[in-house]
Amino acid sequence: MFRRRFSSVSQGRNPQGVHAWLVGSGIASLTSAVHLMKDAQVPPSQIHILETHSYPGGGVDSTGDPGKGYVIHAGRQPNFNDPCMEELLSSVPSSTGTERTLLDEIKEFNELEAPQEDATTHVLVQGQYGPEELEMGKSSMTHKERMDLLMFMLEGEKALNSKSVKDCFGESFFQSKFWCIWAATFAFQPWHSAIEFRRYLRKYLHDTQSLNNMKMLGWTRFSQYESLIMPIAHFLEEQGVDFRFHCRVTDLKMSTPTTVTELTMMQNGTEKIVTIDPNDVVIVTLGSISSGSTLGSNSKAPAPMSMGSEDSFGVEWSIWSQLAMQSPNFGNPTRFSSRIPESSLETFTVTLRDPEFLDRLLKLTKERPGTGGLLILKDSNWAMSLSIPHQPMFSDQPPDVQVFWGYSLFPERIGNFVRKPMFSCTGQEIMSELLQHLRFPTDSILKNSVTVPCFMPHLTAQMLTRHHGDRPEVVPRTNNVAVIGQYVEIPEDTTFTIEYSVRGAQMAVQHMMGLVAEPKKRQKHYLAEFLEALV
Ligand SMILES: Cc1cc2nc3c(=O)[nH]c(=O)nc-3n(C[C@H](O)[C@H](O)[C@H](O)COP(=O)(O)OP(=O)(O)OC[C@H]3O[C@@H](n4cnc5c(N)ncnc54)[C@H](O)[C@@H]3O)c2cc1C
Repeated sequence: MFRRRFSSVSQGRNPQGVHAWLVGSGIASLTSAVHLMKDAQVPPSQIHILETHSYPGGGVDSTGDPGKGYVIHAGRQPNFNDPCMEELLSSVPSSTGTERTLLDEIKEFNELEAPQEDATTHVLVQGQYGPEELEMGKSSMTHKERMDLLMFMLEGEKALNSKSVKDCFGESFFQSKFWCIWAATFAFQPWHSAIEFRRYLRKYLHDTQSLNNMKMLGWTRFSQYESLIMPIAHFLEEQGVDFRFHCRVTDLKMSTPTTVTELTMMQNGTEKIVTIDPNDVVIVTLGSISSGSTLGSNSKAPAPMSMGSEDSFGVEWSIWSQLAMQSPNFGNPTRFSSRIPESSLETFTVTLRDPEFLDRLLKLTKERPGTGGLLILKDSNWAMSLSIPHQPMFSDQPPDVQVFWGYSLFPERIGNFVRKPMFSCTGQEIMSELLQHLRFPTDSILKNSVTVPCFMPHLTAQMLTRHHGDRPEVVPRTNNVAVIGQYVEIPEDTTFTIEYSVRGAQMAVQHMMGLVAEPKKRQKHYLAEFLEALV
């Protein structure tokens, strides 16, 4: 038995009579289902999770095998110390024992088994004899830039409405080591939202030295898909939650701007219409980080997305568009969905069948896999960064196989060695570019590695500039529908994190079911408190 985290139902719906319809099965919907069941006491069989794909997890998917190569989608880690993550993970039993929770399991792994060395981000530049590490510690900003940064953090959000980062800083700021690390760590671009950048600064500035330090963030034993998504989905399934895969929600009809009355879904080619009672609850994940993504292979570049096709907009955006057409309270999806050149990015996963690459990297960085932070190649035209996790990352990964993950902020640019845009490169060409940056031998390592590139047109769409009102509130003055995911407005919090989807889901359940206690907020650092006092 698990202790209830929110107080019991004080008002609102009688859980026994509620049917909850959750659109999507990413971490946001899975979190909603956990708290609907455990805290609001909605019977599991009355919780319906509708997912267009054949598997749960959305953007936290991981697939592959040692032969064709593994694919990691979300290669970095959520912050397991965030109170809303703790709330979720302590509500789910560990897959290894009934007395323990998933939170116990993750904490135990990090205390006893995960690599413990204290290590941080490495920034490599080309030196005369090979790649050299840029000294950490100094930000390389001028006095004026430091003052600008401080003034920027003191600015109220209203003044930054719709501005980009480059509207607020001079060109030289974007050449500083400070920006290089922040851009690579959080996938920030100069044209991204100034509001979002300010929120990130307020949340993480005091941690600049330890950004990416895995000791701070924590590892899961295997990939997030295997160690986070699967245990939650299995738990829900075991309890009797109704999962429906290959099930695309195609329409939500509202009788008024506050109330959904009908949900239409297409499941395995058959259309089904469900009548939604005002007492029922519909919780919709808006958009998706992974919508429109295409995979390549070691010998093939990812297929480019045909602009204007349905895929360029993606099924993941269609329900949001319909809601926005029915009420302005649902915000403006096109602000985020239709600016692909500003939101696309490319990731790649490398499967190694020979230890040579990681042995050489160990010599270069002095860090074992999983102990270090990001490895940033500052001189790379594509702005490549690598994340080298502890091994194995997959439960079926053979002991002589290693896997790592990387991404590039400017895949549209011509490479330094492979003279074409990363978008049109095969996996092998991407690995070849990387090896030449590191000055590692190419032939032997390429022969024993498989690189799978992944083009993600909407990966940073949630960071694009926005006007006030473009992002809806979690409960946008509605009666029986809430919205969750990366595109809702949660004051002060930072998007592009799993925590954001988790917190939004907890807020949705709390509001919809009339639970007394609000989801816990992250403790603010005293620096953020101090800045707030000055605004
Ligand atoms: C490369 C990469 C790196 C990342 N790095 C980090 C990191 O370092 N730290 C961190 O915390 N987070 C990171 N993230 C972000 C994190 O993975 C996402 O924030 C999270 O997955 C969002 O979850 P979600 O449930 O809100 O949405 P999603 O995971 O996008 O799920 C939405 C789901 O809804 C389904 N769906 C949508 N519309 C419909 C419909 N009409 N009918 C049926 N189903 C529908 C979709 O198929 C999808 O499965 C990263 C993500 C990626 C891809």
